[in-house]
Amino acid sequence: IGLEIHVQLNTKSKLFCPCDNDSSKAEPNINICPICTGHPGHLPLTNKAAIEKAAELGLALGCKIAEKSVFDRKNYFYPDLPAGYQITQMHCPIALNGELEIILENNLETKKVRINRAHVESDAGKLIHKQGNSYVDWNRSGTPLVEIVTEPDLRSGAEAKAFFENIRAIARYTDVSDGDLENGHLRCDANISLRKKGDQKFGTRTEIKNLNSFRAVESAINYEVERQAQILDANKKVIQETRGWDDMQKMTVSQRGKEESHDYRYFPEPDIPPLHHEKKWIAQIKSTLPKLPIEKYHEFIKLEMPQKEARTLALNAEIAMFFSATTAICKNPKQVARWLLTEHFGRLAKNNQKFSETKFLPKDLAELISLIDKNEISSKIGKDVFDEMFETGIAPETIIKKHNWKQISGAEFIEHLIEEVIAENPLVVSKYASGDNRVFGFFIGAVMKKSQGQANPKLTNELLEKKLNAMR
Ligand code: ZN
Ligand code: MN
Repeated sequence: IGLEIHVQLNTKSKLFCPCDNDSSKAEPNINICPICTGHPGHLPLTNKAAIEKAAELGLALGCKIAEKSVFDRKNYFYPDLPAGYQITQMHCPIALNGELEIILENNLETKKVRINRAHVESDAGKLIHKQGNSYVDWNRSGTPLVEIVTEPDLRSGAEAKAFFENIRAIARYTDVSDGDLENGHLRCDANISLRKKGDQKFGTRTEIKNLNSFRAVESAINYEVERQAQILDANKKVIQETRGWDDMQKMTVSQRGKEESHDYRYFPEPDIPPLHHEKKWIAQIKSTLPKLPIEKYHEFIKLEMPQKEARTLALNAEIAMFFSATTAICKNPKQVARWLLTEHFGRLAKNNQKFSETKFLPKDLAELISLIDKNEISSKIGKDVFDEMFETGIAPETIIKKHNWKQISGAEFIEHLIEEVIAENPLVVSKYASGDNRVFGFFIGAVMKKSQGQANPKLTNELLEKKLNAMR
């Protein structure tokens, strides 16, 4: 299986004209001009931000950025393509020869998938079919896309789905795209062929177009693998063709015979000069790359986080960033992960809420954890504080003051420290138990030290006496 994924870039304007690039809520045919509607004589001008974002995505995929990239015209007729050609990069794409390590589901392994290329191209408009009529909306015409083409390194629907998920995460980490599948920001085509074990040559492939959900990628590929296997088992031939996924009937259906690249009569776009990508420019973009999902994933695994949670965190840019913002203040990543993934996720699920509805800030969670770490409150009180933080977004200090929880947790907490000191010092304990009163001071000192001087000395004295005398 090889994938072609189109990523819609979130630039302010379109690829070759100043029109607004966000048409999601606009009336049809509002964000258009003579350039993106292909009027004769129009002259395109390349959007620098789109090229920068494409290079950033290419680098994040481990690709080399070419010294030069060239736009070509891909000629075909369709009503959503007013110019009669798409501007793309056929022969000299901006990014080449990458390798992406992806996080698989359901096991600890990762997998390296080779990237053939990533190129920049413009999107077409949209056809809308309503009550027997067809309409065209060109708002999306000229929107910048990056098309990512993999080598056929994927081996199952599940792996393809995982690859697609990793691409969305990278698009969001780098902020080259909003990555909303519901809004068509990411669209996936899958090329599938079967061969016998040990065969070197690939079999005849089919291409499934326009898979726009993770579930569709997995189901469509699994269906197509099964369909081809049945044909081959019956000693028949797979026809090379383009197929579509019918999400209602859960099957792929034939759309058209496969065209060859020469059918499109590609030729260099005469109105746009080639782009020269200077080393300095590439290095500058590389230096701004954030930590990527795979690096985050390995970090989380090192923190002994379970694989499922580590994957969830790493592949969700929003949560991973919240995590990083919290650990930047509070140097206890294990606890940050635990509070986010167990306490917070549990409450979100119970309330049927999304992570974006989180009311508290990273600094609040950091504060809560450090209050517990500094023994100012017990972890039991911590949970009560978190409940209120979760509901209201109020800072932990304010909540604790309001309920006067610091004092209450005091005794409980000193008791806890005493238990620890006793467990850690069996020899001194046995000395005291056999009647040596001189070692009592040692226990006071040890508890005070553990509480970093926060424990009330009078209370500590009382509680220690009670506890130790019970052992005599
Ligand atoms: Zn325009
Ligand atoms: Mn394309």
